[in-house]
Amino acid sequence: MARCRECGIEMDFVMMPSGKAMPVSGVYIMIDQQSKRPNRTIITDEGETVRGREIARGHHLKDHKPDENFVAGRESHFANCPGASRFRGK
Ligand SMILES: [Zn+2]
Repeated sequence: MARCRECGIEMDFVMMPSGKAMPVSGVYIMIDQQSKRPNRTIITDEGETVRGREIARGHHLKDHKPDENFVAGRESHFANCPGASRFRGK
């Protein structure tokens, strides 16, 4: 597993449809993608970006089979890296 150069945390990579590897970190989050008040954007293991409202989190959600309402995935590491300010604003 790779480590972030900014904060040193262990990251995982998800291959995006574009062919780029997206760094993700943290536990799996399950979101309700039908929610009218989305507050999370996650990357699924298939490389899909999905926005919705967080309803649960935990590593066990990795095995959740996506359906039309609930999808599990992880957040882009850039969204929660403590050193992320250095990725932006230049
Ligand atoms: Zn980081």
